Amino acid sequence: MGELAGNKHVEYILSVERRKDDFHSVLMEHLRMNGAYWGLATLDLLGKLDAVDSEDVVSWIMKCQHESGGFGGNIGHDPHVHYTLSAVQVLALFDKLDVLDINKVTGYVASLQKEDGSFSGDTWGEVDTRFSYIAICCLSILKRLDSMDVEKAVKYIVSCKNMDGGFGCTPGGESHAGQILCCVGALAITGSLHHIDKDLLGWWLCERQVKSGGLNGRPEKLPDVCYSWWVLSSLIMIDRAHWIDKEKLIKFILDSQDTENGGISDRPDDAVDVYHTYFGVAGLSLLEYPGVKAIDPAYALPVNVVERIFFGRCST
Ligand SMILES: [Zn+2]
Repeated sequence: MGELAGNKHVEYILSVERRKDDFHSVLMEHLRMNGAYWGLATLDLLGKLDAVDSEDVVSWIMKCQHESGGFGGNIGHDPHVHYTLSAVQVLALFDKLDVLDINKVTGYVASLQKEDGSFSGDTWGEVDTRFSYIAICCLSILKRLDSMDVEKAVKYIVSCKNMDGGFGCTPGGESHAGQILCCVGALAITGSLHHIDKDLLGWWLCERQVKSGGLNGRPEKLPDVCYSWWVLSSLIMIDRAHWIDKEKLIKFILDSQDTENGGISDRPDDAVDVYHTYFGVAGLSLLEYPGVKAIDPAYALPVNVVERIFFGRCST
């Protein structure tokens, strides 16, 4: 089995950051806030966050804030709860949450909750359990969960639980690993994991591992490195991570690296991107791969950052 090409991945992330104005970046412009989170979280997990200028990043993030309190994907873009969480997560990485007007951000996120407890992603109204997770994660990091109706939010998520133990995006929606992580993460943060049938869901999740060792998101689909995160973090939160073959999953992720130019792809021999590089490294972190910092499965932030938020500045 190969080894993690950590330094190459750091170089790759930094090179993408430098190529801000190329064609690919223009296409991805609206996703830049998410890209910043994927890239910077990767650097932090690999112990190289200090390779970027935190002042530059923080000042750019604050320029993406809308007067409603929410953040856009880039300067001048409409706000969305997903970009808002990414902005908060990046500020948390740099220990810069104090630059935020917490009431303003909190007011924006809480305003997206509907009467039935669900959340929409922006003021246009599409409802999805992903947005429930994002809102709960964001308000928890800001220590303002009390600004939303947690009980109703949990009730709505539980109403999206299926017979197979998984969760869909709305009641009756098909189970999908990405959606399951969101629902399990939201229930974990709100102390509501007792609503889950852990054995039933654990069985569905561990069946996502295919012959190559990789994980897929639904039955009959191809394995994909990003599901190392969605599936494994869910399994960890319900204490069933030992139901998959960890060595084979490590090999699948390592086989998906570009060991020459850095970066990780969705599966071996495909083109690399920042998204899969982050989820590959995050997956290896959950698998306790040497040299990668530990990541928290519910908050998707390094454990030391989560400890700093909730328990003060005791660790570095
Ligand atoms: Zn993927």
